[in-house]
Amino acid sequence: MQLSAEIIAIGSELLGPTRVDTNSLWLTEQLNDIGVEVQLKTIVGDDGARLEEAVADAVKRADIIITTGGLGPTEDDITRVSTAKALGRELVYHDEIEAVLRERFQRWGRKMPEINKRQAFIVEGAEILENPRGSAVGMLLELGAKRIAILPGPPRENQPMFTDFVLPRLKELVGDVFVARRVMKIVGLGESAVDEIAAPIYNSVERASTSILFNKTEVELHVSVRRDSRKEADADADELARRLSDAFGIAMFSTNGETMEEVIGRLLRERSETLALAESCTGGLVARRVTEVAGASAYFGEGVVTYSYEAKVRLLGVRQETLDKFGAVSAECAEEMAAGIRERSGADHAISITGIAGPDGGTDEKPVGTVFIAYAGPNGVASRKFFLPGDRYLIRWRTSQAALDVLRRALLKASQDR
Ligand code: ATP
Ligand code: MG
Repeated sequence: MQLSAEIIAIGSELLGPTRVDTNSLWLTEQLNDIGVEVQLKTIVGDDGARLEEAVADAVKRADIIITTGGLGPTEDDITRVSTAKALGRELVYHDEIEAVLRERFQRWGRKMPEINKRQAFIVEGAEILENPRGSAVGMLLELGAKRIAILPGPPRENQPMFTDFVLPRLKELVGDVFVARRVMKIVGLGESAVDEIAAPIYNSVERASTSILFNKTEVELHVSVRRDSRKEADADADELARRLSDAFGIAMFSTNGETMEEVIGRLLRERSETLALAESCTGGLVARRVTEVAGASAYFGEGVVTYSYEAKVRLLGVRQETLDKFGAVSAECAEEMAAGIRERSGADHAISITGIAGPDGGTDEKPVGTVFIAYAGPNGVASRKFFLPGDRYLIRWRTSQAALDVLRRALLKASQDR
């Protein structure tokens, strides 16, 4: 059965600019893994009336409601009182909870402050969820077919509580649901273009959900398939991924979450071949990305950043005439840069980049965002002109992605031709 969930994070600090509600991210992942979809998340400050309203509304809409935080002993910890009101239930005092608290304080050699007694009050009818890591116990309520879990705020307290007590009960409720997820990545197409191609495919699959996320340099397609067995879920997710991969062809560079730089690394390793880089406007960003991958030294030996004309001449052997005649941002310069670094490094493959990242330096002929990328390989040198939109930051990132993609396509083509 497909059940829906809502998460309510409680605490005024979460509404400020310095604290982030990470609990709901973790909880969402756990819920998705058992096939439960989170449909709404709310952050409520330490405001009793608002929390009461939020809980009452959530109960009307969702099958599963999880609250985190606000179970401390102080006046501003309002979760107990507000959830009880929202559910129309009393708070019931449990002396065994107080006894455990007193004992805990005693072990620390301290006297329990009287306000901690507040933490011994439980919403009528709730199951008590022990908290060996903190003072606030959690609660689990059944409201007909609905489940309400009330958990403490600190992640190190609420995560084990959720895993140990709440998750098994939710699993019983949803039955055996197995979710298989695939993360696919596409380069060179925008979000809407991706959706146009992908939607007819993912819409034809039952019990599948898809989200499309835009990253600064690529579009990610997250698909998940819910089935009654692990085997079925995996097989159907693989089948869906294969159909999507066929539809996108070479534009889809990853069907298993691999990053562009990991894909490059894998392709080079498979071939036992090496790479060298000559960068100008990316200032070493491509080299940084290539070396993000552990073990990159197996295929990457060097990259140079040649920002000035003089450095391009001295370090790469670009001809002064080329620079005088065509400028540094030109196909001719890019090709000499790639050929130069390939020859000097002895690498099998070389990529060069030269362009205008802006905001200044653009001309009518070569506006900001104009980039030349050259590839030099065993079969010679070729370059391509790109126009990459955005501010300086985006242009540099998109250029780095375009450069890695030029290399990826060259490597794939080389193995096809073999
Ligand atoms: P305790 O009794 O342990 O104080 P509590 O339920 O009162 O539990 P809070 O006081 O609301 O918890 O939060 C305690 C700390 O837990 C916060 O300072 C924060 O560091 C962390 N925390 C609370 N809510 C969240 C959240 N949604 N995401 C991440 N961290 C959180
Ligand atoms: Mg709090």
